[in-house]
Amino acid sequence: NETVSRNFIEQIIEKDIEEGNCEAICTRFPPEPNGYLHIGHAKSILLNYGLAQKYNGKFNLRFDDTNPTKEKFEFVESIKADVEWLGADWEDRLFFASGYFQQMYEAAVKLIQKGKAYVCDLTPEEIREYRGTLTEAGKESPCRNRSIEENLKLFEEMRAGIYKDGEKVLRAKIDMASPNINMRDPIIYRVAHMTHHNTGDAWCIYPMYDFAHPIEDAIEGVTHSICTLEFEDHRPLYDWVVRELGYEHPPKQIEFAKLYLTNVVTGKRYIKKLVEDGIVDGWDDPRLVSIAALRRRGFTPESIKRFVELCGVSKSNSSVDYAMLEYCIREDLKLKRPRVMAVLDPVKLVIDNYPEGQTEELLVDNNLENPALGQRTVPFSRELYIEREDFMEEPPKKYRRLYPGNEVRLMNAYFVICTGFEKDEQGNIIKIHCTYDPESRGGNSPDGRKVRGTIHWVSAEHAKKAEIRLYENIIDEEKGVYNEDGSLNLNPNSLIVKTECYVEPSLGQAEKYDSFQFVRQGFFCVDAKDSSGDALVFNRIVSLKSSYKL
Ligand code: ATP
Ligand code: MG
Ligand code: MG
Repeated sequence: NETVSRNFIEQIIEKDIEEGNCEAICTRFPPEPNGYLHIGHAKSILLNYGLAQKYNGKFNLRFDDTNPTKEKFEFVESIKADVEWLGADWEDRLFFASGYFQQMYEAAVKLIQKGKAYVCDLTPEEIREYRGTLTEAGKESPCRNRSIEENLKLFEEMRAGIYKDGEKVLRAKIDMASPNINMRDPIIYRVAHMTHHNTGDAWCIYPMYDFAHPIEDAIEGVTHSICTLEFEDHRPLYDWVVRELGYEHPPKQIEFAKLYLTNVVTGKRYIKKLVEDGIVDGWDDPRLVSIAALRRRGFTPESIKRFVELCGVSKSNSSVDYAMLEYCIREDLKLKRPRVMAVLDPVKLVIDNYPEGQTEELLVDNNLENPALGQRTVPFSRELYIEREDFMEEPPKKYRRLYPGNEVRLMNAYFVICTGFEKDEQGNIIKIHCTYDPESRGGNSPDGRKVRGTIHWVSAEHAKKAEIRLYENIIDEEKGVYNEDGSLNLNPNSLIVKTECYVEPSLGQAEKYDSFQFVRQGFFCVDAKDSSGDALVFNRIVSLKSSYKL
């Protein structure tokens, strides 16, 4: 659609293409393999991939693995799985920043040769002290004016493993009086005697992010390097690095605001604690917003894409309500998925005038609003399960469902009139009795009489037993994410497990991640971790209604 307005990044790209600054664009998603991806990363992935698609460019998946302390290989596979699931196809453009260590080393040597970098002996504390503050210029290091020869020799010795961690660093020689503290001779290489997950013990010096990232972008031919807002005041350093190294096609850094969701937990520290305390079932617990958790909860890539589009791209930080994500999944599943019957809190309904031992197969629409989904059969018999709350012994006014003497429609089946009920010794209702009108098959009566209530049901003999997990926000929304002491303000009802549910027999065939609308209840999906052939487990993705309006 040509009339839609372009976001500010698209405007920059279109200008660059128009002015011939780049022939074809190339974007990248550069995760550090130090954790699982979350909904915020999904925004970055879909943004970068979407731009590459839109402008016929390329999209790189690059692991930014230059810091051996925090990185683990196990995260590489989980990140790849998540990016792939979101539909961002990197084709053969999968890269590891650690693959460029030799080139980064050579780039550092080049800076030394140009007199633009020096080896510094100050301790980390001294470097911090000398750096100055926003109101106070920095102080030059006594090592700043070392000769090029001496710097080359010392840097070579750093590489050779002669120095201990922290004993020497390589710094860019820029400007200790710069108003931008990032430009006050930043450290670009450090000594770290550590084994790297990719390069093993080949290196004992590692480049710092601000030096490594522009080089990675330049080597790969990235044209637009999109990052989040906190890197805005690192941009002068990014530009300094690509300029001093003389790349023919310098990449351009563009910043946008991070995606924040209200009342969710994204901090790794907090999630780790929730896992350790046994409050959540790992990183993919359906109440979390890691991509793995959203997938397990039953979100689709399409719904996340829609969500990210609705959030838009901007330069100012703001936070989006979780209800908007729920809106997106509801909209996505509404017409795509079958509407089936499941009873979450069962009580038996016996149709006393229905022949014993008889079963009918009723033909029903899978989705009334989408005939393309076809039809299925649902067995009907003398004994059914209905929801406990669909019967009341003494109904309040306006209650339209079952109560003694009242007639309701069993969805897709027959009209029934309640004739009585049975209680156990504690006074709990254990069975409800009714009679049916054989003329009302399909849910309409030939004499045109109206019933006001329609309830769902499953045939007791045929239904499959299932466990159903109902989720609410893990955070108590009224009170915000944190308590005064900094602990998480948890919602005690964030998970309710119903172990005695019954679903239509057709759901016995459901596969992991398959999702359904359970009529009158919400959208549910088969739990990929805990559900198996004869022990079905469903997650509630989202209820049917919401307060959220677009
Ligand atoms: P976290 O600390 O939450 O894991 P991160 O910044 O450490 O985030 P990286 O692996 O460094 O994660 O990030 C990979 C990419 O994802 C970066 O380009 C980063 O800017 C982007 N990104 C991270 N968080 C968000 C967010 N909330 N919204 C949008 N983009 C994000
Ligand atoms: Mg990270
Ligand atoms: Mg990071």
